[in-house]
Amino acid sequence: MRILITNDDGIHAPGLAALYTALRQLGEVTAIAPERPRSACGHAITLHKPLRLRPVEMPDGRTGYASNGTPADCVALGVSDHLGGVPELVVSGINLGPNLGVDMTYSGTVAAAMEAAICGIASFAISVASYERTAFEPAAEFAVYLARTISERGMGDAGFLNVNVPALPRDQIRGVSITRQGRLRYSNRIERRTDPRGGVYYWLTGERVGRSEHAGGDVDAIQANRISITPVRLDLTDERPLDTLVAWNLHWPG
Ligand code: MN
Repeated sequence: MRILITNDDGIHAPGLAALYTALRQLGEVTAIAPERPRSACGHAITLHKPLRLRPVEMPDGRTGYASNGTPADCVALGVSDHLGGVPELVVSGINLGPNLGVDMTYSGTVAAAMEAAICGIASFAISVASYERTAFEPAAEFAVYLARTISERGMGDAGFLNVNVPALPRDQIRGVSITRQGRLRYSNRIERRTDPRGGVYYWLTGERVGRSEHAGGDVDAIQANRISITPVRLDLTDERPLDTLVAWNLHWPG
């Protein structure tokens, strides 16, 4: 099996190394990841400057690549025929920090899996639900199991999968839930501050408060110490208001 891995925490992130080492048992794994942390870069791509790759040594002594591009760029490079052939599977992660609810839309980790889906390649993003230093082995073990399952069964109708794993020892993880994208709420997202010279600046904070959650959402699953798998589709259309909008009879007023 030929697998491409990437992330948004950078080529030197321990989550990428754990994923690489675990997936090697399934076959050929190529790592192409940003040369520096790019968390929260979303689905940005690089159109106006050259993309470069620099060889780096992976944990088993083989060669991976650090890129000056974004996670989505890394996938575009990795699925091209310049780097040893098109992968059957793209895995993005293991991200340090959960990608739940609306955070999926900011995440470079998730965007990389989405980019693979756009290219028609099976993919999943995988994150561990802690911002602290944590053990990646349970998530890496689950990534192998899921990759093997996808190679046997395909992706169903899913565009791609967004996987979150509790930051717990393996015997404290309570199971696997197939979930919807949940809802997270933030307050005071922007702080206004003053610098030592009296200039005003702003800082995006993103303090998470309470939660407003769908039943069956990803946030609930993680709170219940369960692995969450959310199938995500590329078609962003909201079908619910289509009839209502048609009934508005909007027309070109000119
Ligand atoms: Mn990240």
